[in-house]
Amino acid sequence: MPERTESESRKLLRRLRDTLATTGGGQDRLDRITHLIADSIGTEVCSIYLFRDAETLELCATEGLKPEAVHKTRMKLGEGLVGRVARTNAAVNTADAPGERGFRYMPETGEEIYSSFLGVPIQRVGEKLGVLVVQSKTARQYSDDEVYALEVVAMVLAEMTELGAFTSDEDGMRALHRQPVLLRGGTGQEGAAEGHVWLHEPRVVVTNPVADDPLTEIDRIREAVGQLRVSVDDLLSAESLDKDQKQVLEAYRMFANSRGWLRRMEEDIQSGLSAEAAVEKEQSAARARMEQVPDAYLRERLNDLDDLSNRLLRILTGQGQDTGAEMPENPVLVARNIGPAELLEYGRKLRGVVLEEGSVGSHAAIVARALAIPLVINATRITSEALNGDHIMVDGDQGIVHLRPEDAVANAFRDKIAMQAEAQTRYASLRDLPATATCGTTIALHMNAGLMADLPSLAGSGAEGVGLFRTELQFLIRNKMPRRAELATLYARVMDAAKGKRVAFRTLDIGSDKVLPYMKPNDEPNPAMGWRAIRVGLDKPGVLRMQVQALLRAANGRPLTVMFPFITELGEFQQARSHVLREIHREKSLGHKMPESVEIGAMLETPSLAYAPKAFFELTDFVSIGGNDLKQFFFAADRENERVRRRYDTLNLSFLSFLEHIITRCAEFDTPLSFCGEDAGRPIEALALAALGLRSLSMRPASVGPVKALLRRVNLQEARAVIEGARDRGEESARPALMEWLSRQQG
Ligand code: PEP
Ligand code: MG
Repeated sequence: MPERTESESRKLLRRLRDTLATTGGGQDRLDRITHLIADSIGTEVCSIYLFRDAETLELCATEGLKPEAVHKTRMKLGEGLVGRVARTNAAVNTADAPGERGFRYMPETGEEIYSSFLGVPIQRVGEKLGVLVVQSKTARQYSDDEVYALEVVAMVLAEMTELGAFTSDEDGMRALHRQPVLLRGGTGQEGAAEGHVWLHEPRVVVTNPVADDPLTEIDRIREAVGQLRVSVDDLLSAESLDKDQKQVLEAYRMFANSRGWLRRMEEDIQSGLSAEAAVEKEQSAARARMEQVPDAYLRERLNDLDDLSNRLLRILTGQGQDTGAEMPENPVLVARNIGPAELLEYGRKLRGVVLEEGSVGSHAAIVARALAIPLVINATRITSEALNGDHIMVDGDQGIVHLRPEDAVANAFRDKIAMQAEAQTRYASLRDLPATATCGTTIALHMNAGLMADLPSLAGSGAEGVGLFRTELQFLIRNKMPRRAELATLYARVMDAAKGKRVAFRTLDIGSDKVLPYMKPNDEPNPAMGWRAIRVGLDKPGVLRMQVQALLRAANGRPLTVMFPFITELGEFQQARSHVLREIHREKSLGHKMPESVEIGAMLETPSLAYAPKAFFELTDFVSIGGNDLKQFFFAADRENERVRRRYDTLNLSFLSFLEHIITRCAEFDTPLSFCGEDAGRPIEALALAALGLRSLSMRPASVGPVKALLRRVNLQEARAVIEGARDRGEESARPALMEWLSRQQG
């Protein structure tokens, strides 16, 4: 491969582009392209391998290897030198291919006579599409310039692959973004949904990877980078930025002003790429580096560069957020990540949400839960696989996404949705009936809420009231601290919507997984056990007091229920309670109308409170078990950590015995007790809680029906005997015995 001039490189790219305009199938184009490349760069072999599926590469065209190997030779990702290029997204350049680590001999290709090998990935912004290989008999290492030239060619091939240039039916190479894809992620919110993809940030489509006039393209890129710099400076001059936001934007500014970045893109343009393709080439390289970098800080910075490249592409192509595309029917939102306020803006019109990143405790997940929209998180590759309008099925229960599903899968999935709908109809018929078990005991079912959007569910679900109103959600979705008057109006609207039903307002529970965007995050080694919830409220009581004032004003004579999160000992409860009493006194003296009654309770979320002095149980108006936190501390298993969060069963008899202890202590002092963690909404868990003696459960609105349906057909005394039997036999969990007993009930 002799040294090549820039004009030769441009000529080759133009000839490649011209093949796009030719008639004939995808195979035809591939054949012509391998011939063109081999001819233009003077090498004996040029081959193109494309992905047949996510794991398999297939030789799709070759100049120089045996033609009969085409569409026969396949390798797994990571297998042989070609597989290694694809897996690492990096070039392999060797003078002695057979002697190279991992070399795999493919006799059908006849490649054993070629010693030198250069393979570069065909990739588009992190999406692996294939591998481009050149080989020759002379044993020599390719120069950096040659590697670079081949990468530029590969970039154009990537864009052509995206545009469907190589799709052909005869050989079964189906177009990208047309095949059915199954993606496994995690459960963010249960439920099943069918609809069409709506990309939060639509992919930028580059239709012109090759440019005729490098000078025009250089002007374009310089102007776009100039605009980008101004927009970053504008963002930086905003007054409301905190230190961290400033830091991120400073990093953006550094990249936007980096000469190296612009210089590399200009070099790409000189070799024949358009400005857009040059941006994508550098973005792809940064993504590939990102995959290799273990250091979290460096990864973040590469992520910034990625973000900046997207902005630059949008400036160049004019394809903004608003592409003019119409939101499809039954939209399922697909995004890398999304903020809570943005998600709320989409609101209930979404059928489902799929995120490439995200976590169970992320604010987006909290909002999706409040809106009762099925959510799958950590669905790797979804944003590069999905196109606007694609048919998509979201299985929030299993954390699975079917993109462009085949008919058989779609039909099975629809059966599941139909069964769920049928069950919902059955539950709706129970709406006005009490959750009375066959033994005559009635359990009060309440719902959890946190946004105005939740309140319509109160009437529909048949819940008796709101057992937990998470007030922090209102703080999380804003970008600045809400004012007292705003909160008072909001709480009044919540009480209006509840139409006299009881709403237990939990005071601000921030810290741990819930970090307010406008408050400086504390760099704590273990935030779940750190400065959070009532600890913050007591140390900095300004916000707590403001919240209590807003609640008192909102009640305006109506009964008020307040509870404090994360109370760990008696003293904390006494202090928090006295803040409320002081505010009542103050508000009264200011002439505000006082609530008809005020209940002040505590959430029991740490094991220590179960052993508090009796004064606690006498003083508190009620106790609400926050099972999510209580369980994480009881089992020492982080509720946010996928590796451990499902490791211990709620029906583990140690935990049930502990809950029984709490029930006994509350009973001793006639302290009303309820349970408001996620487990209250799981029918078998709810049954166990009721069997142990809990008489009030608070759950997601969608869980009220299934829990009520089960409770109404069982005898709680018998269920209790089943649990005790399992304990007497020394079993670890009561689940197997309860399940077996339930299956006998049905039979
Ligand atoms: C809990 O911990 O069980 C609870 C209800 O509170 P949160 O999930 O908001 O921490
Ligand atoms: Mg909690």
